[in-house]
Amino acid sequence: MTKVRVRFAPSPTGPLHMGGVRTALFNFLFAKKNGGDFILRIEDTDQTRYVPGAEDYIKESLDWLSMIPVESPWNGGDYGPYRQSERKHLYREYADQLIESGHAYYAFDTPDELEAMRDRLTKAKVPSPQYNASVRMTMKNSLTLSADEVRTRLDSGEPYTIRLKVPRNEEVRFNDMIRGWVQVNTNAMDDKVLFKSDGMPTYHLANIVDDHLMKITHVIRGEEWLPSAPTHILLYQYLGWEDSRPQFAHLPLILRPDGNGKLSKRDGDRLGFPVFPLEWKDPKTGEISSGYREKGYFPEAFINTLAFLGWNPGTDKELYTMSELIEDFSIERVGKSGSKFDVDKTKWYNQQYLRDKTTEQSGPALLEALTQEGLNIEQDKLPAYIDLMKERATFVEDMVEGRYLLEAPVSYDQKTINKKWKADSEGIVLSLIDLFETTDFEAETLHAAFMNHLEKNEIGMGAAMPILRVLITGQGFGPNMFEIMEFLGKENSINRLRKGIERLKNG
Ligand code: GLU
Repeated sequence: MTKVRVRFAPSPTGPLHMGGVRTALFNFLFAKKNGGDFILRIEDTDQTRYVPGAEDYIKESLDWLSMIPVESPWNGGDYGPYRQSERKHLYREYADQLIESGHAYYAFDTPDELEAMRDRLTKAKVPSPQYNASVRMTMKNSLTLSADEVRTRLDSGEPYTIRLKVPRNEEVRFNDMIRGWVQVNTNAMDDKVLFKSDGMPTYHLANIVDDHLMKITHVIRGEEWLPSAPTHILLYQYLGWEDSRPQFAHLPLILRPDGNGKLSKRDGDRLGFPVFPLEWKDPKTGEISSGYREKGYFPEAFINTLAFLGWNPGTDKELYTMSELIEDFSIERVGKSGSKFDVDKTKWYNQQYLRDKTTEQSGPALLEALTQEGLNIEQDKLPAYIDLMKERATFVEDMVEGRYLLEAPVSYDQKTINKKWKADSEGIVLSLIDLFETTDFEAETLHAAFMNHLEKNEIGMGAAMPILRVLITGQGFGPNMFEIMEFLGKENSINRLRKGIERLKNG
């Protein structure tokens, strides 16, 4: 059996959008699942759209998500180079081959002439004006000019393009792994430019030549490339590569949270979530776009989110590590219809992975992250600390809010004080101190003793609990109070209560 080889083929025209990362992920999973190769190719034939830094961004994103290609511009491979601009010399012979076999032709039309053609067709109410079988014989190309004239023009260095000669009224069919049979009549296609006047191939030609030369077996890419697929099918046919043609799988669109249209950068800005894996600074405008990494998302959470945008395991299982995804992933379970992006779900994943960080394996990484945030915590206290904070935390940053578990408060939540510190508060706290002096500092025991004390002395919950919390933690809200007290210990908790009374009495 032929070895599975798939490629992720981004163009370095800006930061990688989430959709692009999802394409990379599905390629990666498919390769791993089938014992194949995941390859990265940079498609930079359109030099006018090249953005400096975009390629590094792609590499850094894949590194962050641990999707490391086995062959790429950065680590080479047997089928390199892996940047199309460095493969420039390879493409021309295939364009020439197509001209010789009559499947392509030279076109000398100037931009003005093309524009005039479009105007003419628009005036004649042609639905979508394009350079095709009905139009090409009215244009300036090697099908309408004499052989001599063509030669003279080519020799004089006049700019020209090479176009695919799409036949009239033929059916182009292919079996998409996700969509099933796709059929298009060639009358709906145009004579795509294969080779540009700047000496570079277009995406269509370069993509097909490279997939062939790199022995790609499956092309897994976004739905936006579906309209290009018939052109690609014709190219495989005309270049005589039909037998080794890769199989196609066009992934569904990622939709806006409300399901109305494709998710764009603007939606992210408007709704307050990133659409990029990493932060990106536009080299021209200096504008900064936020990234999942910088917002505090774990790569695991981002991967989990992306996996479920289009794929589902057909079970209730929602949490998937990369190795579990590799195990369970299949293209057959990728749907055709667009998938709505839900940032709350992404947050939920993050919360789940954060909770998981207490494990021996990931504990040290979290400890380091917390230390970086300026939290001074000892290793042996970490599991209890995380246990307390995790219910309310989505990001590592939220964990830092538990600073009061390590340092006594220096101020008290003013709202709680204004509302709850009354004339009898001091007495209540003093009676609680007496109670705690003789209670075992274990959460449930404390809880029971506290409830019993309130009942016996007819003290309302609302008169005692908020005051207890604010004096011990400085906060109006937080995790279970008795668990906090157990964490702090008797001496610490009581000291904080005494200190609090003193401070409040002295204003
Ligand atoms: N260079 C194309 C892109 O930017 C690749 C499309 C394909 O995978 O064929 O997405």
